[in-house]
Order: sequence, then structure tokens, then C-alpha cells
Amino acid sequence: MQTMDSFNFAGKKAFVRVDFNVPLDENFNITDDTRIRAAIPTLKKILNDGGRVIIASHMGRPKKNPDPKYSLKYILPRVSELLGKEVKFAPDCMGQETAAMVSALKPGEALMLENLRFYEEEEGKPRLPETATEEEKAAAKKELKERQKKFTATLASYADCYVNDAFGTAHRAHASTALIADYFDADHKMFGYLMEKEVAAIEKIMNYTEHPFTAIMGGSKVSSKIDIIENLLNKVDNLIIGGGMTYTFVKALGGKIGSSICEEDKLDLALSLLEKAKSKGVNMVLAVDAKIADAFSNDANTKFVPVNEIPDNWEGLDIGPETEKLFADVIKSSKTILWNGPVGVFEFDNFTHGSLAVAQAIVEATKNGAFSLIGGGDSVACINKFGLADGVSYVSTGGGALLEAIEGKVLPGIKAIRGY
Ligand code: AMP
Repeated sequence: MQTMDSFNFAGKKAFVRVDFNVPLDENFNITDDTRIRAAIPTLKKILNDGGRVIIASHMGRPKKNPDPKYSLKYILPRVSELLGKEVKFAPDCMGQETAAMVSALKPGEALMLENLRFYEEEEGKPRLPETATEEEKAAAKKELKERQKKFTATLASYADCYVNDAFGTAHRAHASTALIADYFDADHKMFGYLMEKEVAAIEKIMNYTEHPFTAIMGGSKVSSKIDIIENLLNKVDNLIIGGGMTYTFVKALGGKIGSSICEEDKLDLALSLLEKAKSKGVNMVLAVDAKIADAFSNDANTKFVPVNEIPDNWEGLDIGPETEKLFADVIKSSKTILWNGPVGVFEFDNFTHGSLAVAQAIVEATKNGAFSLIGGGDSVACINKFGLADGVSYVSTGGGALLEAIEGKVLPGIKAIRGY
């Protein structure tokens, strides 16, 4: 397989798919530039080799072409600043003007294309009114497939080689993340440095695991994490359940959960997961106490109670001190750790303590030689809020992509380059 380090980009044009889908505030200021910073080493290597870079990304979920609020022009100054050189901008990713700008690129120059998703061809999903009939949808899909081929071929025609550094969209089989790879020989397509790191981190967790392996699953709902939990039961020694999910399990076991978040239709599922864990010898660790509140608010009254004795009209918003110790002991005795989802409503300062305790235990385990991977939007925001990102082995830039990889799914963006 071709790699960034072994490829000499001198004189070449490289089409680099990045994930610059960064959050912006209402004045179009970037509120978190992590994803841009993460792709800079790849772009720099190509430019330093004397290559020409065509930067391509999506932004948000535009419903029409163009949808100005999703323009990539807003992030151009930051990309130039982080790259240390002026990046040119093509106000459309298609068209003659863009083709001319690509041709005019000189060695060491970079051009960023406008949002790829301004064309429905990128995702291959027709943008139809909700009233469209099934027949109309099928016909539109077929017709779009043909246009998507042309769109993909045009993007591919811009370059001599293809680099995918967009891990955040690696779970999508879109024109620029997967289909385009077919237009390049095996030695002219490769992962960017970020993608290489993400893939290596996933492989380490999934294939070269040192035991004990502990996964901490938090967040609000069991239903959104069910596939990943089932898959993890085949791999982990300990599965810690935290966050809002806790209460579906506690209720299923007959506990009193007050008004805590609960998926009533998932009680049987929770019991069957506990059964499955038992039959596979997995130590499923549930909270024993909770910090409860009389309202879903940072300023609510609070107290600590056993997790299965929550009074009516009170809800569990964080783990309690006994649970913090229980979770921390399991984490600290682990050699491989995966953390997805906060164990409390960490957005409220009065309910961050449990997630902080988990983060600190992971940092300590990492210091003692464990490999720790943190991923999924909220856990990353959480570890950043605590300023502890440097203390863990790897913080993934992917949310959905990371979870799908851990569920055992083959990611189209990865398969398109390495074949599996
Ligand atoms: P998810 O997107 O499913 O990973 O869920 C993340 C969200 O779960 C965060 O916004 C947390 O505030 C929320 N969360 C964590 N613990 C609880 C809880 N006990 N009750 C309600 N929401 C929670």
C-alpha cells in the first residue's frame, strides 16, 4: 500500500479529501479548529515536496446548491494561517473556472474547493421534496447515479494522486471519500497522516488488544449504542455503563429511578445485554450511586443516593462518589481502554465530577502503560474541557466513523484505499 512518507509529491497534483466540517458560531467564527489542525501535517508534506494541493471538504448538510451559510470561504483564512501560506479558493468545486484554477496551480501552491455537498452528487442522495413518491425517489436515485459518475470523474481529473485524510467521513461511501479512489492506481492513492493514525489506533484496540480491556460507554441512550455494546461484548473484559443509559438498566433490574432518563421500550434489551455479558464472562459494571437533581438544570438541588433508590421527581445526572471509585479501580487495572460518552451531564458544571474522575483514572492508567482511545464527539469535548487530552494515548477526530469501525463495520473510505 502507498504511504505519505514513501511518496514523492514533487511536480504532482494531489486531491486531498479532508474533513473541515468544523463548528462555527452565528458570525461564522470557528469555535473549534481541531479538524483543520489535524490535517495540516498532510498538506505541509505535499507542499514541502513541491507538490500542488487541491483541498476538498464538505461543511454541514446543505439542502441546496449553493447554500451560502455552508460556504467553506469562512474557514479559508484559518486554513491559510495554520498552513503558513495563502490558500486560493475556487467558489465552486465544478465548472470551467475551477478547472482553470487547478491547471494554473504552481508547485508549492494550494487551492481549496467550495463545499462538495453543494452538489447532491457528492452524497449520491437525491434532494427531493418530502412529498415525493417512492417511484419518483427510485427514478431520481437512478438518474443521480449517472450524474455522480461524472462528478466523481471531474474531481479525479484535477489530480495525479488521491489522499484521503477525512476520517470523520470515512464511514460514508461518497464521491470524494470512496468512489474517487477507483480513478487512481494503487500506488497513487493513500491515507493522509491523520487517517493513518486513526486507522492504527482502531487496529490497536480491535486486533492487538492487551488485556484487561475496559470499555466505558456513556451518553444518553442505550438505543444509539446497542450495536457497539454487542460487538464490544466479544472483545472486552470489563464494560462500564455510565450516563443516562444507566437508568434503563437499573429500571430493568427492578430499581427505582425517579424521573431519570429511561427508554421504556429497551428494558428487555438491557436485560438481554446483561445476560449476554454474563454468558461471555464480561464484567459489566453499573453505577451503584448517583448524584440526583430535582430538575434538569445546573442550579437544581442535589443529593447522593443509591442508584436504585431515586425518589419520585428526582433524576440521576451524574455518578456518585462510590461509583467514581468503583469505575476508577477497574480503569486503573486495565491495559486497553476505550471511552465513548460522558458518564454524566458534563455540560452542567455541577455534574461534571464523575466524567472528570473517569478521565483522571484513564490518564493514570495511561501513565502506567495502558493504551487509551477516546472518541465520539461528546467524550472529546469532555476530555478537552478538562484539559486532559495530552494524558491519553489517542483522541479520535471521528464520531460516527469511530463507532462504526468499533462495531466491526468496514469503512468505505478505508476500504477504497487499502481494499478491506
Ligand atoms: P450521546 O450523544 O448519546 O453520547 O450522549 C451524550 C449526552 O448524554 C451528553 O450531552 C450528556 O449530557 C448526556 N448525559 C449523560 N448522562 C446523562 C444523564 N444521567 N441524564 C441525561 N443525559 C445524560
